[in-house]
Amino acid sequence: MGNTIPFGERDGVMYRAFEVENGLACGCVCPACHRPLNAANQGKIVSPYFRHVQWEDCLWGHKEGVRRAAVALLVPPHSLLLPGFQGTVSVNTLSGLPLAQEIGFGPSSIIAERVERFVAFDEVIAHAVLHIGERQLLVRFKMSARAEYERYQRLKALEHSSLEIDLGELTLEQINDPVAFERAVLSDLDNRRWIRSARGQQMEARTREILQAQAHVAEARWAKEQAHLQAVADAQRAEQKRLAAVRAKEREAHWANQKAVALEQSSKPRPHNVTGERELREAQIVGTTVKISAEYGHGTECSTCHLVSPPNTAFCLYCSHDQSRMQPVSIAKDFADTFHMRMRSSAKPDHSLRAVPMLTVEPDL
Ligand SMILES: [Zn+2]
Ligand SMILES: [Zn+2]
Repeated sequence: MGNTIPFGERDGVMYRAFEVENGLACGCVCPACHRPLNAANQGKIVSPYFRHVQWEDCLWGHKEGVRRAAVALLVPPHSLLLPGFQGTVSVNTLSGLPLAQEIGFGPSSIIAERVERFVAFDEVIAHAVLHIGERQLLVRFKMSARAEYERYQRLKALEHSSLEIDLGELTLEQINDPVAFERAVLSDLDNRRWIRSARGQQMEARTREILQAQAHVAEARWAKEQAHLQAVADAQRAEQKRLAAVRAKEREAHWANQKAVALEQSSKPRPHNVTGERELREAQIVGTTVKISAEYGHGTECSTCHLVSPPNTAFCLYCSHDQSRMQPVSIAKDFADTFHMRMRSSAKPDHSLRAVPMLTVEPDL
């Protein structure tokens, strides 16, 4: 379409090529450079259009004409359909969970009380400024795919709402069709979007305020919970420390006691009825197990030497091995009678002997 000119200007009014006489007799000038135009409206196949009488270095006749014809349509009583607005407001919180809320409103129509044409705001031209009461709505008609980023940043900084209506996709046929053109300018929701919606921004600011207040409440609650959890963890650590100290003391006392018993034992002779080390250890395991289960019905077995101490004994009475776990065991009376038979094929005596070649304290059987 490039340089076909859909509108010619005569006495400040925009005419389509089929609305005027053919050729130079149209009396129109280019809306951009104001030099004379020829109307070409006799074609059967091609849509009517204007061209410069002489080839001119003018690239703006198309764009300028469409924009000015579009602005003329905004004048009351025409109503302009405004797009809706959608957004999400989210606020970060200390706990890491952001608070978010959807906001928005639907499309609505306005009729301007007054329309100003081509007004500059901070070096950006608003093609139309619609006045409604105290409010102003800035309209830009986009005519090319060119990025408008810088311009729109400037418009966004203004207090007024601003709207983009994209007419760059319209064909000459659509522009020449008054109904289609009017629809594109006034009421096609697909070609318009907010550059800045004052209403949307207010909505966003209000929602942000509410969410921030909610976030403060949530954060205070969260901080309180964290403090509580911290206090609980601190108390647990302190209790663990205390228990470890108690246990260390008990262990120390236990070892001191074992040393004393061992010293006393060293002066006594060993029993002579068993010969080998394995048999001796086996007899000690069987002996302590049967003795304790006969006395209490259950006991505590050392995971290292396998000798059995009375129930709930914290430290092995015999091997003083540092890594021993003391596990509860019980042996039924009738089972105890045959226990020594089973121990003969058990790995426990060997394991015991390997882990503890010399018991600190010999059991008194
Ligand atoms: Zn021109
Ligand atoms: Zn032990």
